[in-house]
Amino acid sequence: MQIVWSAVDLEPAYGGVCVPTMGALHEGHLSLVRRAREEADLHAHRLPVVVTIFVNPAQFAPGEDFARYPRTFEADCEKCEQSGADVVFAPAVGEVYPEGPGAPIDPRIIIPAVAREPGLEEKSRPQFFIGVCRVVHRLFELVRPSAAVFGEKDYQQLLTIRAMASEMALPVTIHSEPTARDEDGLALSSRNVYLAPPQRKRALGLSKALRAARGAASVAEAESAMRSILLANQVEIDYAVVRDAHTLMPIENLAFGARALVAGRVGAVRLIDNMAV
Ligand code: AMP
Repeated sequence: MQIVWSAVDLEPAYGGVCVPTMGALHEGHLSLVRRAREEADLHAHRLPVVVTIFVNPAQFAPGEDFARYPRTFEADCEKCEQSGADVVFAPAVGEVYPEGPGAPIDPRIIIPAVAREPGLEEKSRPQFFIGVCRVVHRLFELVRPSAAVFGEKDYQQLLTIRAMASEMALPVTIHSEPTARDEDGLALSSRNVYLAPPQRKRALGLSKALRAARGAASVAEAESAMRSILLANQVEIDYAVVRDAHTLMPIENLAFGARALVAGRVGAVRLIDNMAV
């Protein structure tokens, strides 16, 4: 496996399968790398798998955890190699944003409706999907992949990237992988390292709430069950909703294709999770 610091050295890996990450890799990320390996091996000429590791300043608001975001580069590279990656691409901020992370966004980039309208992540983090679309578009420009893999863990982000790729006619197939969880149900996240043991226990409220939503008979019942469980676990609720699985807009019935999504704070740590219902 090769570690590439600058896009000028990426040419031999053009056309590969890309896994964009911010590092601090855990089993969830590695399931994406293994999926990328499988997709890459389906081709007659084994395509390269390129994992990008870049903590994107443009998707953190002032006061969020950009400076203290966990950084574990050497261990990440070992894990990537063991999971089948051919290249780790770790660009500097100046290569991703030649005009600086605060420069205006490239006007060609489409921020799709699913990133602007549901009132979920974008409500409490207004710059977040602009930062995500910007970095993913730029990484695709540098890596030139034929496909990329994203996790369902960040469900609104997955739909956003799918819609951006489709609306901008980017030549990249978007694949997704289910959320990897600890045995007790907690969704794996690089931010789980911030949780002290009692907080980790409270954080289980998110997956418990989602499981309760699956057993509910109506949207109202599901949302009320989720809120009760989150409150019982002292999770400060940001949202706890059941939405259309494609548009993330409100729905009246628990028809096929509904998704339960929760976000909340345990102490200073903001956590999100989602499940099909
Ligand atoms: P991040 O490094 O947190 O930006 O995540 C990079 C990619 O890994 C995104 O596509 C995430 O959705 C995905 N990811 C993060 N956590 C998980 C998880 N627990 N299971 C599956 N995918 C995940």
